[in-house]
Amino acid sequence: MSTQDLSTPDMSTPDMAKPDLLKPKATVTIADVLAAMESRYPIASAELWDTVGLVTGTPDSIVHKVLFAVDPHDRVVSEARDVGAQLVIAHHPLILNSEITPSQSKRKGEIVGQLLANKIGLFTAHTNADVAWPGVSDALAKTLGVVIENKTSIDPITSLGRIGNLPSTLTLGEFANQVLASLPETQRGIHVAGGLDKPIMRVAICGGSGGSLLDLVAQSDADVFVTSDLKYHVAQEFVDSTGKCLIDISHWAGEWTWLDQAAELLKLDLGGTLETHVSSLVTDPWSLSLN
Ligand SMILES: [Zn+2]
Repeated sequence: MSTQDLSTPDMSTPDMAKPDLLKPKATVTIADVLAAMESRYPIASAELWDTVGLVTGTPDSIVHKVLFAVDPHDRVVSEARDVGAQLVIAHHPLILNSEITPSQSKRKGEIVGQLLANKIGLFTAHTNADVAWPGVSDALAKTLGVVIENKTSIDPITSLGRIGNLPSTLTLGEFANQVLASLPETQRGIHVAGGLDKPIMRVAICGGSGGSLLDLVAQSDADVFVTSDLKYHVAQEFVDSTGKCLIDISHWAGEWTWLDQAAELLKLDLGGTLETHVSSLVTDPWSLSLN
C-alpha cells in the first residue's frame, strides 16, 4: 500500500453528523449495524438491478469487529477470520449479475460456505453508497485533494459522481502524479489522456465505472474526469471532441478510499466497543502491467 493520508472524515459538516436515532451501545448486533448502514446508505436508493444488503448472518448475532473491503472475495473472508471480525461490509455485491454462470455460482457458493463455516456475516452497500452524501466519490475526492462544494454532482438527478476544485491550478501531468501518489498501489496503475501541460483546476470524479457519465462531464466545466474502466473509442472521442482530459484509475483503488470513510461513520454512529478494520488486501484482478 502507499502511504497516502487516510485521515478521518471531517465530522464538522452536517452530513457527517451522527443520526439522532442511533445511540452508542455496549453490545452491538448485526441488526444495529444494519440500522446504522441503512441510515447512511438506504437500500431504497440502490439501483434496481443492484443486489445489496445482508447476505449471511443473523440480526441478533453480536458483532465486536467489522472488516471493510471492496470485494467479498474468498481471501477477504479468510482475512476476516484472521482478524477476528464477525461481519464483513463489502462495497461490491457477492453476486452482481442475475445471469450467473455455473462456474461463478460454484465459486460464490463456496464463499457463502466459507462465511457460514466461520460464522461471519456479509453485508454489501454498492450503488446506495455511490449516491450517498458522503459516499464513494466524496471519499475519492478527499483522497485526491479535490474539494467538493455545494453538493455538486456530475448527475444532479441520480447524485452520481462529484465535481470540485483543486486548491490551486496544476498541470495535467502534476495532477496525474498526485493521483498516483494518493491511491493505494496497484499493478493497474493509472492511465492519462490529454496534453500533460493542460491546466487543471476543476475536477469531475466518479468512483467505479463512470463511463456512463461522460456526456454529462462533456457538458460540464470540469477540466478532467477521474474514473475507471473507460473504453478505447469513448475515451478517444471524449478527449478529441471536448478538449478535456481523462485519468483512468484502478477500479479497486478508487473504491478502496470509501472503506475508511464508511468505517469511521459506523464507529461514530454506534460507538461503544465496536472495532473496525479496513482490509489491505488488493483484490484488483489485474496482477501485472508490462510496458
Ligand atoms: Zn465498483
